[in-house]
Amino acid sequence: MARNHSSLIGNEEAHLIIIKLGGAAITDKTRLSVIKRKTIASTARVLEKYRDYIIVHGAGSFGHIPVKKYSLAGPIRSQRQLIGYSKTKASLLKLETELVSILSKNHVPAAPVAASSCLMADHGRIVSQNFATVASMLKLGLVPCIGGDLVQDISLGASVVSGDQIAVNLAIAFHAHTLIFGTDVDGLFTANPKLNNNAKLISTLDPVGLKKWTEKAGPANVPDASGGMRGKLTEILPAVMADIKVIIINLDMPSRLQAAMDGKTVKGTQISH
Ligand code: ADP
Repeated sequence: MARNHSSLIGNEEAHLIIIKLGGAAITDKTRLSVIKRKTIASTARVLEKYRDYIIVHGAGSFGHIPVKKYSLAGPIRSQRQLIGYSKTKASLLKLETELVSILSKNHVPAAPVAASSCLMADHGRIVSQNFATVASMLKLGLVPCIGGDLVQDISLGASVVSGDQIAVNLAIAFHAHTLIFGTDVDGLFTANPKLNNNAKLISTLDPVGLKKWTEKAGPANVPDASGGMRGKLTEILPAVMADIKVIIINLDMPSRLQAAMDGKTVKGTQISH
């Protein structure tokens, strides 16, 4: 379990929502650095009506493609990897700049936070975290915006920490009541819906069902350093066990995001204890 250094985090955040914008939803994962501006703008138009939430986002093609190209998933040993690390950071900053620009243009007071400045990892798992800055931003009325990142790693030098893992840690640290995962499909299906037309949407899951489907779910069918849908499900269990309502929805449907933000029943996959 990650150590938590933030004294600013109290129980008063129990009304908080964490919304994760999936890399597949906000970028074209098959093409380097292609951002889905329309999806981000329609998401922002929903979110501008709310307060007290944190945006977490995936890196999509801005991260997964250079991570693969420069072999950054394993220990960092070579000069080529160090240059690749730097190039990947530049690419991630480009995504962050675009994302925060679109959000602020649409009246969301988004405040970028570098995950690598508040986390340390060991073999890709968060082992220490300091969310004092995030808590302070929330108190001011800002919307912290934090992405999957290359983070300093005790064993590997640096490693990829996914937006999914960060979203779950934030949800637990801030006692969020709801954690929304927005992605490019309607939720969790009985098979990858992009490869199987007969795949059926799973609307509700309990922890036992979650474990079962984690083993069955496939990876993303594109470069993805954090395991696609299977990676996401693996991360979710601790949030569910902490009594946080977890929902996976399609971010291309703004009305579903609005319903999820309002705590209404929504088309998607709801996972609860
Ligand atoms: P994001 O980057 O938005 O967080 P991921 O790419 O990690 O999302 O996961 C979503 C992708 O997972 C979908 O685009 C889909 O192709 C793939 N996938 C594989 N198996 C499943 C499944 N059983 N149900 C839903 N999606 C699945």
